[in-house]
Amino acid sequence: MRRVKLDEGLYIGGEFEIIAGPCAVENSGQMEEIGEFLSKHGIKILRGGGAFKPRTDPKSFQGLGVEGFKILKKIKEKYNFKIVSEIMDPRDIEMAHNYIDIFQIGSRNMYNYSLLKEMGGKTNRPILLKRGMSATIEEWIKAAEYIEVAGNNNIILCERGIRSFDDYTRNLLDLMAVPIIKEKTNYPIIVDPSHGTGRRELILPAVKAAMALEADGGVMIEIHSNPEEALSDGGVQSLDFEEFRNLLTKIN
Ligand code: PEP
Ligand code: MN
Repeated sequence: MRRVKLDEGLYIGGEFEIIAGPCAVENSGQMEEIGEFLSKHGIKILRGGGAFKPRTDPKSFQGLGVEGFKILKKIKEKYNFKIVSEIMDPRDIEMAHNYIDIFQIGSRNMYNYSLLKEMGGKTNRPILLKRGMSATIEEWIKAAEYIEVAGNNNIILCERGIRSFDDYTRNLLDLMAVPIIKEKTNYPIIVDPSHGTGRRELILPAVKAAMALEADGGVMIEIHSNPEEALSDGGVQSLDFEEFRNLLTKIN
């Protein structure tokens, strides 16, 4: 297969797509600002911003839930985006069809076999499966097979870095996963340099590397209008508008 259809003429795996957006949807003003900016720069797939956020600390912002999805839908309709956003609970799958186009399974849930099976059985929408942070490539591929066996082969794999002993970067972006996945599977692969490095100054080099390795789906990047104020993954990880514009200029 090697490509997953989103719309007439729009595929993941067709050309190197830049998927971008905030870590989380925070409010409609934030999404409007980001949506307008990305639309102006030709971005077609919005990293919706998670509405359901898997956070390490239960006291951290957990996402807006369905309210967040409603905000995403307004932005989607206004700017004609395709939206990718995470689903953590199988009970939300049916409801999510009203709002989002690509169902993300996050790193923490790659081993959640019940969720994988439910996703495969309950939606035909594309599923973006992130690599577990301690998953081998083999385990990751098997997780994708769980979805496929359950009935959905519209699967996109996303390399988002694995844990290592070195905490200089948030994770260790395993770029060799790109050629390996291309050789071993028929799923398109995208690279997430934001979670893969956790450092904004490394996003551009990581994107260049993903291009050089011909990651067939492209990359997914976190941006925010005001990273310092972001409710999740702002700080040193998300790019601001200026940095994102600069990245586009450099890679074009
Ligand atoms: C995310 O994409 O915001 C996310 C939570 O990523 P990961 O599952 O890779 O940690
Ligand atoms: Mn994030």
